[in-house]
Order: sequence, then structure tokens, then C-alpha cells
Amino acid sequence: MQILNYINGALQAPLNNNWLDNPEPATGKVYSQIPDSDSDDVQMAVTAAKEAFPAWAALSRAERSDLLRKLSDLILKNLDTLAAAESRDNGKPLWLAKRVDIPRAAENFRFFSNAVLQWHDEAHHMDGHFINYTTHQPIGVVTCISPWNLPLYLFSWKVAPALAAGCCVVAKPSEVTPMSAFLLSQLCIEAGFPPGVFNIVHGTGPKAGDAMINHRDIKAISFTGGTKTGAYIASKAAPLFKKLSLELGGKNANIIFADCDWDKMMKTTLRSSFENQGQICLCGSRILVHRSVYEKFKTEFAEKVKALKVGDPHDDTVRMGAIVSKQHFEKILSCIELAKQEGGTVLTGGNAIKLEGRCEEGWFIAPTVIEGLDQNCRTNQEEIFGPVVTIQPFDTEEEAINYANATEYGLAGSLWTQDISRAHRVANKVESGILWVNCWLIRDLRTPFGGMKQSGVGREGGMHALEFFTEAKNVCVSL
Ligand code: NDP
Repeated sequence: MQILNYINGALQAPLNNNWLDNPEPATGKVYSQIPDSDSDDVQMAVTAAKEAFPAWAALSRAERSDLLRKLSDLILKNLDTLAAAESRDNGKPLWLAKRVDIPRAAENFRFFSNAVLQWHDEAHHMDGHFINYTTHQPIGVVTCISPWNLPLYLFSWKVAPALAAGCCVVAKPSEVTPMSAFLLSQLCIEAGFPPGVFNIVHGTGPKAGDAMINHRDIKAISFTGGTKTGAYIASKAAPLFKKLSLELGGKNANIIFADCDWDKMMKTTLRSSFENQGQICLCGSRILVHRSVYEKFKTEFAEKVKALKVGDPHDDTVRMGAIVSKQHFEKILSCIELAKQEGGTVLTGGNAIKLEGRCEEGWFIAPTVIEGLDQNCRTNQEEIFGPVVTIQPFDTEEEAINYANATEYGLAGSLWTQDISRAHRVANKVESGILWVNCWLIRDLRTPFGGMKQSGVGREGGMHALEFFTEAKNVCVSL
């Protein structure tokens, strides 16, 4: 099967007719091919987007909103097909794609179809002498580049506000997980999007992605991915004065105080450590536990982690599926070796898992818990982005905060305590874009989302995301 680019309203092969293999992580077998697009395909998409822009920007908000809502409905109507594609491409359990990824992708389009209708401009009077009003005009053609871990969800998180704001989009999903974006392009045709408004160019970051970020007609870049790639993109975009939103890596702390609701904490910590094989930027990969309950936590957690079922993503009883690619599988295993060399003790996991039958060649890793490492070592400093967590005891609130803030990242964190004052105190001192107290992964799309420090710049979410894709224009009138 061949995945096709979506350019100027039509599905088409890459102009160079070069293709890349797309393997299924659970089986290790190639099951489709994707375009290895280059700057010619990107140029074609940008030209189409530029031509479509004036008419799209001139549509009423209600008309754009209607189309986005239609797309959201189509995603839900095709939930099973999209979830199967997402699970096959990514290795995640099918039930997870059905329950989380696809419904949230539909919600992204629905949310921004509503948000754009509520969006209002501002006016300011200057003591009756002048009046200023500020309007937000769509910035033009923009690019949205997304990673492989939550493919359709993160892709739609960028594309939906851009389209709602009136921009035309040239987007690239990760080459590792292109299938759900391809299905989305078919749904866009069914929904009746005007040609050129939304274009999807498949291919690698260094080729297709690079052509997008360097293109002079691309006015803004919304990127989610690794910090290194983000830094590279920023270095290219800054001299061209492109607007930039970077949602980057994390090394999130999960702080557990002795007075927490233990069962709720334990259940959620299993999820926040290993959901999606630990490949969620918001997963808590450094667990910090008050010393008074450290031994209790360590024993119970390791036991429960050991019992997590790893297996075929089709099996509804598995908790964890396959790692997204062979390359990433090998990287995670090398990180575990590094942790051992740094003096860490593997409490459970630490190994690849060989399954039988359909998945015998798949890339599976046992959920892994490591203790005995301080916060300065590479294992606790560098993002692993897999089913590997470290645990460490702390003695005081201050120590917990210092440990939590001990990395260059600042994306997310969680905190478990029943003490309301402490919850607010600690939440305000942990350097992260979002901090969950007694919960995890709850997202209110009205709030700004993104990280501090090297986890990114340019918070998106709610009206902020719509604003990102616009130029604010101020008009000052003498009365
Ligand atoms: P990468 O940074 O490797 O890639 C992200 C996207 O950028 C992919 O589509 C990739 O294409 C593309 N890309 C790579 N190089 C370039 C380039 N030179 N120019 C333009 N585009 C390029 O990240 P991963 O896909 O490995 O995703 C994992 C990372 O994403 C983790 O660090 C994770 O923390 C982060 N992430 C952050 C989130 C957040 O909200 N802050 C959410 C989810 C993930 P290709 O795949 O073809 O290389």
C-alpha cells in the first residue's frame, strides 16, 4: 500500500517517485510505503497554499468553523479505522488509540471550531481623545510539524488552530507514523476543504521538513518534537523572522509525599510512567518519593510494574505495546545499559521482550524501574522517551523541589499530597509549563500548553493558539 501526499486538494505521489518503507513496530514487517518528498513537493504545496490563502482568510469564521466541525465528526465516524491505523503505525495498544488518541484528535478540531467563534478583538479608549482597536489577521501560509508518539492528536493540535485562524497549512507528520495523517487527508476531501487550504507532505525531517522551515513564504512554524531538532529549527527560522512555537522534550518529575491518597497515586503513577510505552512527552520519568514511604513505594511499585502485560497491540488486555521503531528500541536499550554503568540498580525490567506468533519480530521492552542514581547523571538528565523510570527518595519539600528542577527541561510534572497548602507551594516552585496535583494528563484545551526552559517556547492552547497564527494589528483613531 502507498501513502500519498495531499497537495492542492488531491492525493498524489511524490514528484521524484521516491518512497520509504513504513514498518509495523509490533511485527517488524514493512506494511506500506510513504513518499520521500523533497523541496519540489513542498514548493508545490506552498504555491497551492498561497493561492488558496486570500479566499480562505476571507471566509467568515462561521464558515471555517463549519468545515472544522465536519472534519471532527468524520474523525469520530471513522474512529475504528483511524485507531487501527494509529496502533499499527505506532505500536500502541489499539484500545488506547480508540480511547485517547483519536477522540482527542476529533476534540481538537471541535474545540477550535468553537473557539474561533468566541474569539473577540480588543478596543481601548484614551480618555475620550483616541480609540485603539486591535484586530488579528491570519498570518498566511504556515507549517505544522509533529512527532510520532501521539500522531493524529499532536498533528491536529497544530493544524486545527491554524486553519481556524484563517491560515493555509503545509504540514508534515512524522515519517515514522504517517498513516493516520494520510487517512485524515481523505477525510478532508470528503469534508469539502477547498484545494490548497490544507496540504500534507510526507517525508523525512531533514528533507521535506527542512524545505518547509527554510521556505521564505512560510510565515510561522508550529513544531512539536525533540529539543535538538527544535534548536535547529529556531536557528533557521530566526534570521527569516518566522513566528515560532516549539513544544519540545521533557524529563518530568513525579513527586510523591507520604500523605497522598496512596491507591490513587499508585494507579496513576503506573499510567504516568508507562502509558504509550512511556512515549508521551508528559510522562513522569523521574519519580521522587518521600523517604518515610520510599521502601513501601519501591516494593509495591516494582511488583505492579512487573505485572503490567506487554504484548500484541491488538490484544485488549495488554497495557503496553511495541516501541515505535527499531532505532528507538535500540536507543532505549542503550539508555538502560548506560543507567547500569552509572551505578543504577534495575528493580524490574531492563530487557527486550521476545513474543511469539505474529509479533515475534516486534520491538518490545519490559517496563523498567531503576534506583540508586542521583539527579546529575545522564540517565536523569537526558530524555529517554521510553518505558524507563528512575526512583529516588527525598527528605524535605525543598529537596524534592530542587530535584524536580535539576534538569534543563521544564515541560510537566505531577505532585501527590493531601496537604492543600503544600500542593500550591510546591506547584508554584516546580519549573514546568504544567503541574498536575493528584492527577495526570488532564488537559483543558482553553489553557496555554507548553514547556519552560529547554522544553519549548510560545505556549499554545485556547485563544493563545489562535493568536499565534495571526498578526495583531492596532489601529489608533483620533476622536
Ligand atoms: P524529532 O524532533 O526527531 O522529530 C519531530 C518532527 O520533526 C518529525 O516530523 C521529524 O521528521 C521532523 N524533523 C526532524 N528534523 C527536521 C528538520 N531538520 N526540519 C524540519 N523538521 C524536522 O522528534 P521525534 O519525532 O523523535 O519525537 C519525540 C520527541 O518529541 C521527544 O523529544 C518528545 O519529548 C517530543 N514531544 C514533545 C511534546 C510536547 O508537547 N512538548 C509532545 C510530544 C513529543 P522525521 O520523523 O521524518 O525525522
